[in-house]
Amino acid sequence: MKSSAAYRAIALVIALSLAFAAAFPYLAGAQSEFMRGDRMPYDAFEKLPKTDLDVPGGVIHVAFAPGEIALPTEKVLDWVRTSANAVATYYGRFPVNDLKLLIVPVNGPRVRGGTTWAYRGAAIRVLLGRDSSESDLRRDWILVHEMVHLALPDLAERHAWLSEGLAVYVEPVARVQAGDLQANEIWQAMMRDMPQGLPQAGDRGLDNTDTWGRKYWGGAMFCLLADIEIRKATGSRRGLQDAMRGVIGAGGNHEQDWSLARVLATADKAVGGDVLTRLYNEMGPKPVTPDLAALWRDLGLRPRGEAMEFDDTAPLAAIRKAITARPQ
Ligand SMILES: [Zn+2]
Repeated sequence: MKSSAAYRAIALVIALSLAFAAAFPYLAGAQSEFMRGDRMPYDAFEKLPKTDLDVPGGVIHVAFAPGEIALPTEKVLDWVRTSANAVATYYGRFPVNDLKLLIVPVNGPRVRGGTTWAYRGAAIRVLLGRDSSESDLRRDWILVHEMVHLALPDLAERHAWLSEGLAVYVEPVARVQAGDLQANEIWQAMMRDMPQGLPQAGDRGLDNTDTWGRKYWGGAMFCLLADIEIRKATGSRRGLQDAMRGVIGAGGNHEQDWSLARVLATADKAVGGDVLTRLYNEMGPKPVTPDLAALWRDLGLRPRGEAMEFDDTAPLAAIRKAITARPQ
């Protein structure tokens, strides 16, 4: 009776644990206090010891949730510095004065996920595989992606495509600008993945179509088109980068709630013109299908089997180079 009921309960817990471990093997070793729900565990974070890293324009307070990590702590901190440096290269400074960065060891290799919050101060939680190697960290894009989220005010959910689109588009560009990635790798990836952002049957524009492809790659497509249009309009002296730096300069970062209209108007003002607002008025409320094949051709992208060659005589070749050039 009681004891057999207790046995059954224990057996059930074991079965559930095994099922959970099978379904989410990298989470099996995670500390639940630091993993619970979809909220940042601010209170638990405050109790952990911190290492403060000075980065251009800010400080990152790094804390590790309990658990083993194969790499020495210094190598993990180097990865945090490298990621922050790429974001600071793109935006001219780290987007927030203070960041709480919680690193949670989980089973397996590689960085397994990340989330960014700001409702009690800018915070990122990353799940770091305890068996990660140095090259796993060198190849990681997740931490830079999350840090790019810090550079944009918190928007309404229907405008999440801009937040994710910027993170998808800016992350590789920032890493090339910082010297952490080769330009041909990111253009190859864009050619391969950008079609996932095209509208499908029944699409009602970026604001009204809640699919993964439209949110991430549709948003990234908006950013690429905006970057090219701003550069065309300014003789390539200004780009999306300068527009988004203008948002940070006006006090806009993830700790602020702004409307999309305010973000776009502030960004447009920083580069003189209305490219972002105009493009949003086209792509926000209705499906727009750009001719990507023509765009890649004009940028001078020539896939050669597994490799990619650049055609520097193509009409937008100078703009392609300007997008990934290290800023002054
Ligand atoms: Zn994201």
